Amino acid sequence: MAAASCVALLAPTALAGDAEDALIGKIVAAYGGNALTEAKSLTIENHNRTINIGQSASSTETNIGINDARLVIDFENQRKSFENWNKNRGGTFLNQAIFDGESGYAINHAARTSDVNANLTFAGIGGGAMRTLDTTLVRVLLENKDNAVRGDDVKYRNRLHETLTFPMTGSPNLTIFVDKESGLISKMTRENPTVGTLQYVFTNHKMHDGVTYAGQSSFLVAGQPTTLTIDRTVRVNADISEDFDLPAGYRAQGGNINTSEMLVRELAEGVYYAGQNGGFSIFIDAGDHFVAAGGYVALTARFEAVKEASGVDKPLRHQIVTHHHSDHIGGMAEAEALGANFVTVAEHMSTIQGQFPEALPEDRYELVDGVGSLADGKIQVFDISTAHSDHYLLVYVPAIGLVFSADHFSTNLEEGLPTPNNNMVTFRTAVEALALDIKGFIGAHGTRQLTMDDLRTATDGYREAECPGGRAICSN
Ligand SMILES: [Zn+2]
Repeated sequence: MAAASCVALLAPTALAGDAEDALIGKIVAAYGGNALTEAKSLTIENHNRTINIGQSASSTETNIGINDARLVIDFENQRKSFENWNKNRGGTFLNQAIFDGESGYAINHAARTSDVNANLTFAGIGGGAMRTLDTTLVRVLLENKDNAVRGDDVKYRNRLHETLTFPMTGSPNLTIFVDKESGLISKMTRENPTVGTLQYVFTNHKMHDGVTYAGQSSFLVAGQPTTLTIDRTVRVNADISEDFDLPAGYRAQGGNINTSEMLVRELAEGVYYAGQNGGFSIFIDAGDHFVAAGGYVALTARFEAVKEASGVDKPLRHQIVTHHHSDHIGGMAEAEALGANFVTVAEHMSTIQGQFPEALPEDRYELVDGVGSLADGKIQVFDISTAHSDHYLLVYVPAIGLVFSADHFSTNLEEGLPTPNNNMVTFRTAVEALALDIKGFIGAHGTRQLTMDDLRTATDGYREAECPGGRAICSN
């Protein structure tokens, strides 16, 4: 009896390990067996569409962009290259991240810049692209199989699926849904602490070079598709001899200003600029209250930092909403709690209302029709139109000729000007049409003050690049 109960006690652990091994064996077989496990490299070309939920020019029409990506994973030499060609309303963009086995590099082929970047590692580069491909998930699973745990079987798409959860460097745990009959991965999920469940759906499986992969996949955030892979190819041990070449003749873009600490700057009497980590606001002392612009999350922390640094304690009465994008209205619940009204355009009101569990009364909104003025004329707002946003509230402080703006013209580069794009060019046109006396630009993301001359220099002669350097990713 004693021996029997001993066996019974040990059995679940041993069986659990066997259960995982059996499932992993089935998955590996479905994905090509040795062809995948012994692949020295994988070359993945994705043709994607990006669905700009919460980031479109209009609040009533979702923009769709083109993204073509080439991910090369050199397992043998622990090298990685991830090249991305993006075409959207902001222009064309061609960027590459390389880890050459020793160092990481960030390359901008349009601007012809190349910089060493310690954050670009073998594990980190292309993590998102690896998650949108079932075949790479199998390689991640094999690297972490000792920590893989079987879950319950579930029905998905009306078919029985086995589930398995395992870790991935730099990500919350991944759970895959494996078709019980075919051994193919139909879906992967992981939990994001802020937006909830992220889903990756794999369909249209194909085989090439002996390896199976989903010809299509979709990435969904909170149930909404945000990236669709409409076509892809996966090749095993292809010629990758040129993928890790660092381009010749590129300059360094240079270092970035460190914004990890809360910064409070008094730009002029009663005009404060505050923030950290790429989220900044401007606060203007309007006598018995403050007016703010710049709506990133952590608005309260920035406001508290301004009040502490200035020794001025007044309420926030007006929050200017530059535009309706999800990141720039992330702090609106905080503004509401601080008691502020919202200065916006009629077109963005419903998007802002969506930030609150219950719609706010209409008198909390102050709608700008073309031009507006606050704090006895200390601040002016202008409804302009750019490629980035059909309606955009430009914030201008006449006393110092300062424009505070988001997503158009700002930088955290220690020196030099930001790379131009269509957003910046259309911003310049709209700003010039206002004929304001502008001495400086400061941003919701970028802390270095720039000038009108800088805006002209950066955008003069801008042309949307057809395909920088004639690179393979965009030359067909
Ligand atoms: Zn934006």
